Amino acid sequence: MNKIYIIDVTNRDGVQTSRLGLAKLEKTIINIFLNKMGVYQSELGFPYTNHEINYVNANLELAEMGVISPMILGGWCPVIIREITKSFRLTNIKHVNISISTSDQMIKGKFEGRKNRSDILKMMVNAVREAKKLGAETVGVNAEDASRTNDKYLIKFAKAARDEGASRFRYCDTLGYNDPFTIYQRIGNLVKAVKIPIELHCHNDLGMAVACSVAGAKGAIDAGVDAYINTSINGMGERAGNADLLSVILAVKRSSGMENKYFLDERIDISKSWKISKYASYAFGIPIPINQVGVGENAFAHESGIHADGALKDSRNYELYDFRELGRGEPELVDTGRKITAGEYSGIKGFRNIYDKLEVEFHSDAEAVKILELVRYANVHTQKPLTNDELKFIACYPEQARKILTVTPP
Ligand SMILES: [Zn+2]
Repeated sequence: MNKIYIIDVTNRDGVQTSRLGLAKLEKTIINIFLNKMGVYQSELGFPYTNHEINYVNANLELAEMGVISPMILGGWCPVIIREITKSFRLTNIKHVNISISTSDQMIKGKFEGRKNRSDILKMMVNAVREAKKLGAETVGVNAEDASRTNDKYLIKFAKAARDEGASRFRYCDTLGYNDPFTIYQRIGNLVKAVKIPIELHCHNDLGMAVACSVAGAKGAIDAGVDAYINTSINGMGERAGNADLLSVILAVKRSSGMENKYFLDERIDISKSWKISKYASYAFGIPIPINQVGVGENAFAHESGIHADGALKDSRNYELYDFRELGRGEPELVDTGRKITAGEYSGIKGFRNIYDKLEVEFHSDAEAVKILELVRYANVHTQKPLTNDELKFIACYPEQARKILTVTPP
């Protein structure tokens, strides 16, 4: 039975967002949370980019140690051989998605006459070959701007990727140009011509990223292959954003045409949604919209007489799903009195007080001093009060934390 898997791209596409970004420590915590949520793969970043290398390697170590497992960590790479070689030389990455534009608009508009369709195809094939030669276990092939790519050429491109041993084909609706009806058709035709598992990568420029992701996944499954939906937490992403992680999960699990007919990877644990959403909001410094699906302040609020009365009698009158399922409902305790926080100028006494509250014990004073130093650096790095999960992470995995915090310009 074919299924729908989640490949989250917050740590790659989400951080490409103009004016926004995440510290490497924050990206790491997001990987840990995505793993706990049962996500199939996290696209963790750019393994050929100098300032990402320590972060990528430290996260791959955490995977080896079982801290981030079984979730797969995948890197994003252009089809440029130099960057692919660098990715495998400097990191231990084993899973990559390689990317190139396939639409005539972009081939003409970006390469300005220096490349044609057949050059693009050759570059992709060489890149897959190179990545495999360097030890890649899986290679996904991305067609950037697939939604504006000529149908026949897209099939030819996907076929060449499959024949070269690509594990998946990423259909990128880079500009959010598709609608659910069109993407369903196009994915169906593509899969009928080229049997290869499909990734749906949809942007929200027309407000249809989630709808197109789900329709595309349905198209892939109806044609007989697995579907992998690219999501981002809170829909963060370039311009109007990517397909929101929680909305995609709920749409597959609860919408009228999908519920009990199409199946999501059963490892997905929706009860972690609230926590991951709140953390990403804090890390990006972007509030969750009041009407955000599932996690917005108003997602379970009822005020008008008829609705409030109905919801109180039976929540199913006005709620499709329960807030408790998403991990909501616990009261959030906020200290209103004295509070000791950890920062770049913290001293050992305040620091001990913070970790006592987290019930983290140190074996010796020397260990406490060592962790305090890392906590100071972490605060320099994030420039925000560290969260309990960040503080615990640093105390539990100091070697990986040190690596993550280390960025050495060439
Ligand atoms: Zn994108």
